[in-house]
Amino acid sequence: MNNSFILRGGIAFSNGKNNIITYSKGYVVCVDGVCKGAFADLPDMYKGLRVYDYGNNLIIPGMSDLHVHAPQYTFRGIGMDEELLEWLSRYTFPEEAKYANLDYAIKAYTYFTEDLRRCFTTRAVVFATLHNEATIELMNQLEKTGVITYVGKVNMDRNGGENLQEASAEQSLKDTVAWLDAIAGKYKNTMPILTPRFIPSCSDELMRGIGKLSKERGIPIQSHLSENKSEIAWVQELVPESTCYANAYEMFDTMGSKELPTIMAHCVYSDRLEMQILKKHGAYIAHCADSNMNLTSGIAPIKKFLDAGVNIGLGTDVAAGSSMNMLKTMLISLQASKMYYRLVDTSVKPLTFEEMFYLATEGGGSYFGKVGTFKDGYDFDAVVIDDSKMFSMRDMSVRERIERMCYNDADVSIRDKFVKGKKIFSAII
Ligand SMILES: [Zn+2]
Repeated sequence: MNNSFILRGGIAFSNGKNNIITYSKGYVVCVDGVCKGAFADLPDMYKGLRVYDYGNNLIIPGMSDLHVHAPQYTFRGIGMDEELLEWLSRYTFPEEAKYANLDYAIKAYTYFTEDLRRCFTTRAVVFATLHNEATIELMNQLEKTGVITYVGKVNMDRNGGENLQEASAEQSLKDTVAWLDAIAGKYKNTMPILTPRFIPSCSDELMRGIGKLSKERGIPIQSHLSENKSEIAWVQELVPESTCYANAYEMFDTMGSKELPTIMAHCVYSDRLEMQILKKHGAYIAHCADSNMNLTSGIAPIKKFLDAGVNIGLGTDVAAGSSMNMLKTMLISLQASKMYYRLVDTSVKPLTFEEMFYLATEGGGSYFGKVGTFKDGYDFDAVVIDDSKMFSMRDMSVRERIERMCYNDADVSIRDKFVKGKKIFSAII
């Protein structure tokens, strides 16, 4: 299969956040890795291209996971009786400390990268650990998968305990520069992102240094924001001059800009002031509802942020989130927004399925550029899905089939997955 071809099947893609376009037996055209649009009838100009007919399978854009911790993958689904700060110190930090051992990292990251290749995700923004060697190993492995990613060597010079803490802000910044220099020009699909874990893990000096480095090198930043009430109170103690948690990031020049947006995971307790700060900087919220449920953090009012025009995508947040399956993340996000409306604030309507499909595809995809839909000029990222095991007593529309696939993810499987027109996974091979 070269990089120019046509896929035929049941097609669905977002056209803005409130509209899903579908074709029951449609065509989606890829020329040199770029989507030329989806059509009910194939335009004459593309009739010379080879058509791969997937019959009744569904074809949707690839999904973007804006927040996932690679080193936590192997302990997903345990320790879930804890809340954030206890969970970090009892489970996460001791596990991440093991990545000082490269052999351990090589093995554990193989599980992560292989499963990432096999899931609905075609783009991901990934936390590694603070270790340079292990982070480079992760990037080497990710590059081979064909999934397009940003990967961050984590910065943390305080409150990590003796086994997971850098010696000083200066050392942390020095290691970060060494990591960036070591990988410069090395990859096609794998990009660096600066990754101060969160303010409790990073001294003022380190945060300022990261803000400066981001500007100097033109490298974006990812971190966590307003996930848990104890965490927020702690940040207020650590940075007493800040007006809110987001303002603390702003003070250190780490909130980014519209040209180089920062990704902030969670924003469960972000109020109007934080929302305005996020919007002003063009920051992205990585909404991680599965994680927020598991760690009893709360429900982020995503509908409110979406209506206000804040950039948003979804994050699985493994291992506080229990799986890299974006369909599961979509479902839990939908359920969370329904409960927010019912139990917290009836003026904030539940997210619609259209909005959720948009967040999983084009919403998060926009972080990577023209990504996440089948409109002309977008990168050709696509997932072909077999839903034939989901029996029905009547013919379902494509719109109905993608909705029920999200609500019953165990009954569907991925047949093929493409990134920029390259097939990177096939169930058949
Ligand atoms: Zn996280």
